[in-house]
Amino acid sequence: MGSFIIIAVIVVLILAFAGYKLFNKPKATPVAAAVQVAYKELLSGHVTFYQKLDTAGQAKFEQLITEFIQSVNIEGVGLEVDDLDRVLVASSAVIPIFGYHEWRYQNLTNVILYPDTFNNDFQFEGEDGSRTIAGMVGSGYMNGQMLLSRAALHKGFSSQSGKQNTAIHEFVHLLDKSDGAVDGVPEHQMAHDYASPWLKMMHQEMQRIQKGNSDIDAYAATSEAEFLAVVSEYFFEKPEQLQRKHPELYQQLSQLFIQDPAAQ
Ligand SMILES: [Zn+2]
Repeated sequence: MGSFIIIAVIVVLILAFAGYKLFNKPKATPVAAAVQVAYKELLSGHVTFYQKLDTAGQAKFEQLITEFIQSVNIEGVGLEVDDLDRVLVASSAVIPIFGYHEWRYQNLTNVILYPDTFNNDFQFEGEDGSRTIAGMVGSGYMNGQMLLSRAALHKGFSSQSGKQNTAIHEFVHLLDKSDGAVDGVPEHQMAHDYASPWLKMMHQEMQRIQKGNSDIDAYAATSEAEFLAVVSEYFFEKPEQLQRKHPELYQQLSQLFIQDPAAQ
């Protein structure tokens, strides 16, 4: 009888402990508040997109970049990754998807920062003329990886960026890839009716670029995928200029991203 009571007490204690564990899951990590203050400061100092948002928008942006930093591994090759690197990578990820509800990058586990441009063998040292890649989204055995030049990442958020932002460019490729194909038509984000007018407009503008009659970077004429990525950089970096010079293109991108940055 005595041993029965002891066993019963042990069972009750185990159940109580399991219940305690189940209903008292640790909330956000205690460092989160301090970290968020640091991120807020870096965003205010370096990210124009964030500076233009209202208070609610800024809070949402902070939340999204924190989630991104917690869920994606940002590492460096030949460099030490700091908070500003993390905030800029996460901002580049969040800016293109900021208009979407509950959207997450599914096909990304690592962002690997290189000090500067690299070549196709992912080397970044030496005097190699092919050392010209500033960013890429991995495929095949590199699936889930994004490689970025830290110099290009920082330049994209500096006052000398012009219409360019390499990291936003790469995240738009990743967005494009979410339907399985990097082809310049992000099908999940684009209503079926829009795909055909979008392709038509894209091909017309690519021809103008090839003839030298466009202010859009010539790299956009390489392929439909590059066109989307390059004009998206332009859309987020110089929205007023894009709207003035290419109103239809601006309109299409505004519908695609569900954002109107020229109005902010
Ligand atoms: Zn590209």
